[in-house]
Amino acid sequence: MISEAIRRLDDSYTRRLTEEMIKIPSVVGEEAELAEYIRQELERLGMQTTEHMVKPNRPNIYGKLEMGEGKRLNFNGHTDTVPVVAGWDTDPFTPVQKGDKLHGLGSCDMKAGIACTLNMVRAIVDSGAEFKGELSVSAVIDEEAMGEGAKAMLETEYGNVDACVLAEPYPADESKPVPLGIVGKLLYDIHVHGVAAHGFRPEDGVNAVEDAGRILANLHRLELKTHPKFDKGNYSTLKIEGGYDVYSVLVPAYCRFEVNRLIVPGETVDGAIEDMEKLIESLNLESRVDVKIKPPMYESYEMNPEEPILKLFHEIYTEVMGVEPLYQYSKSITDANTLAGIGGIPCLHLGPKRGDTHKANEYVPLSWLPPVSEMYTRVALSYLNQ
Ligand SMILES: [Zn+2]
Repeated sequence: MISEAIRRLDDSYTRRLTEEMIKIPSVVGEEAELAEYIRQELERLGMQTTEHMVKPNRPNIYGKLEMGEGKRLNFNGHTDTVPVVAGWDTDPFTPVQKGDKLHGLGSCDMKAGIACTLNMVRAIVDSGAEFKGELSVSAVIDEEAMGEGAKAMLETEYGNVDACVLAEPYPADESKPVPLGIVGKLLYDIHVHGVAAHGFRPEDGVNAVEDAGRILANLHRLELKTHPKFDKGNYSTLKIEGGYDVYSVLVPAYCRFEVNRLIVPGETVDGAIEDMEKLIESLNLESRVDVKIKPPMYESYEMNPEEPILKLFHEIYTEVMGVEPLYQYSKSITDANTLAGIGGIPCLHLGPKRGDTHKANEYVPLSWLPPVSEMYTRVALSYLNQ
């Protein structure tokens, strides 16, 4: 049954879809046209589809095939791409092949992964392969920005699936091992309120910039927890603003700064806010300090390596690729921070090898599309027939 579905995989279909999707610009914020393209294709393949308007004209798309009682497996992709960066040799919205490389914005991150997913659905439907439960596809917005699409998905029935495969470019080799966990992150937005005074009589005021400096000089005292797999999170000050716009001898009454912090499992966003408040309290500053956070914010997560989806993946990858997959505890952020970190859904990242993603001349290595389609098909049918 699985072998019949594998026989029905059509690599020219994957290739055609990847090219067509590259031609539909979907820079973050402008996902609607690509979303509609995917919805129509899912309908054509026989899936029952839903358009979920997350923000004005920014829909998530879901499609499903149901076959009675069983587990629910979702294949997830994000429709948005990063903006065009400088340095492209060709038009980013025209697919151009050079050897094994198919260039185009979003080719690898992650239109090819979505095309492999659709190839898998097509082959399963065509072959009449049976399974138990539900096979679904989600195409979500905003992954490259605030992850609003994945957050909105959690509010739907697809927030309760048993496992999720993210078609992100994670080939499970040394270039990008499969994450067994991912750090979380938050952005502290710290407002320091002092008291203005003439700059010649600083004792009459409270200098907000100097108090901000005291906090910054003490950030090493933040209590970062050590995790056996991830080691420690970290922090990095990204921005500071305060003082006059036009020269004047004034004790600044206000200063604001932003600090990025990575958190490991065992640390939470709320806990990180408390850490910062405790640190600031211990400094006994005269300024009043508000600790806020700004989006984007992601919880960390760690998976049990014994999760059925991971064990199945390990077997299938080893069989198809002829080598064992590699794993990592990762310091990048994906929609799994939302789906797993908040939704508790076991997440597998698997997709074509990475070709200069988020850079000029992004490409997907075409030779990766057939094995990825095959692994998706094997994972889907094996997981839903367990
Ligand atoms: Zn991506």
